[in-house]
Amino acid sequence: MDALVSLSKRRGFIFQSSEIYGGTGSCWDYGPLGVELKQNIKRVWWRDYVQRRPDMMGLDASILMHPTVWKASGHVDNFTDPMVDCLECRRRFRADKVDETPWVHYCPATKGNKFTIPSGEPCSHCGVTRTLCPECGKGELTPPRQFNLMFKTFMGPVEEDASLTYLRPETAQGIFVNFDNVLQSMRRKLPFGIAQIGKAFRNEITPGNFIFRTREFEQMEIEFFVNPLETVDGRPADEYWHERWIEDSMAWFRRYGLSEENLRLREHAADELAHYAKRTADIEYHFPIGWSELMGIANRTDFDLKQHAKFSGKALTYFDEERKEHVVPYVIEPSAGVDRALLAFLADAHREEEVRGEKRVVLRLHPELAPIKVAVLPLLKKRDDIVRTAHAIRDELSKDWSVVYDDTAAIGRLYRRQDEVGTPYCVTVDVQTVGDQAKGEVGDGKVTIRDRDSMEQIRVPLDSLGSVFRELLGGAAWASVAGRFERKGDGTGA
Ligand SMILES: [Zn+2]
Ligand SMILES: [Zn+2]
Repeated sequence: MDALVSLSKRRGFIFQSSEIYGGTGSCWDYGPLGVELKQNIKRVWWRDYVQRRPDMMGLDASILMHPTVWKASGHVDNFTDPMVDCLECRRRFRADKVDETPWVHYCPATKGNKFTIPSGEPCSHCGVTRTLCPECGKGELTPPRQFNLMFKTFMGPVEEDASLTYLRPETAQGIFVNFDNVLQSMRRKLPFGIAQIGKAFRNEITPGNFIFRTREFEQMEIEFFVNPLETVDGRPADEYWHERWIEDSMAWFRRYGLSEENLRLREHAADELAHYAKRTADIEYHFPIGWSELMGIANRTDFDLKQHAKFSGKALTYFDEERKEHVVPYVIEPSAGVDRALLAFLADAHREEEVRGEKRVVLRLHPELAPIKVAVLPLLKKRDDIVRTAHAIRDELSKDWSVVYDDTAAIGRLYRRQDEVGTPYCVTVDVQTVGDQAKGEVGDGKVTIRDRDSMEQIRVPLDSLGSVFRELLGGAAWASVAGRFERKGDGTGA
């Protein structure tokens, strides 16, 4: 994880928020390359799930919603952690975790000497167990109080209870409250889904592990509505679709580069299920911090629509033409965090390899996710014609892709820099390309394309560059494209 945090900062992926003021707890800013990576993740997700599916539509609901939404959803009453406060140092702890940390103790049996005692153990001198604050060892702890994880804020100019509302703790509710709007305006038949990407906020007591758990984060959520009266393949429609979404979601993460061995499915046990959920499965990823949730796929039944119908007084039903009755759809919810997905893609792509006795750090990011698709590098930056050609290539390719020009170091180092940020292809312009006019030479009009993963190089005519990259960045395998062109010596840059 340290290597990822350091690479992220050094190469402009992720910075600590408000760093010059000492940083803000668990908030992170995406830098120039991080924002490209993040946009790419959201773009392919939207393309695969909204654009390409006939049964899906998008939505962008507001972050601030009517406060009753959160009463109906259960967040006001249930989205809480039990907390205790130290009356001395004012630190706050989760009541259920307070015995799980080592505790500080001033022992009366040893003239008040200070000890740090392992979690859950009594003092070996006087035998007492922890009752005071584990951090300062002096303060009494308050009885547990429920602490709501929603961020409170006020609408309008007056800070009074009537205007109290919340920053949404999940994007899902924006979809539920718009169910009827979408149904009516888009004239859909079940099953169909509504997808949304957006920010959500949770005032976590113990955030951390880089961008794994943060107080402000982005979600990619789908609510997929199915008719509970129908069956598919002999199974209730909700169970069938739940299974389909679990398989689709797993396949999606694999398609964009997560290794099979770093992914697993974990079913929620009966006592762990939310009270409204029929079944929930988490896709877990083997993060640098261990196996943790990457995405959850829940069968939320008709709980949410019924709750909002009850609190709003509006019918949130679907008319089943075949059975001539109104039904409340069941909902399958595939819900992923953008930041967490980004961390998984980064972690899986990050390799330290040995090339000719030298260390090569490379991000083997899927080309669709890579922040920079092509880097154009002049072999000699003093030659005007080479530099001009390189700039012209960048200008042309950047109409379609994110392309950079770099001439700030020798070619070997430029390759290393691009490897480290996951750029799948480099184009170099050299003397051969443009020829030496002083000697009356004409160039061959070809440039070198170097493949990040194999470090192989091919010579490609300038006028074919666009079509070659359309193939390569459109998913064609390097070998199948490279086979058609002249090979060039290796591109290790050594
Ligand atoms: Zn304390
Ligand atoms: Zn003691």
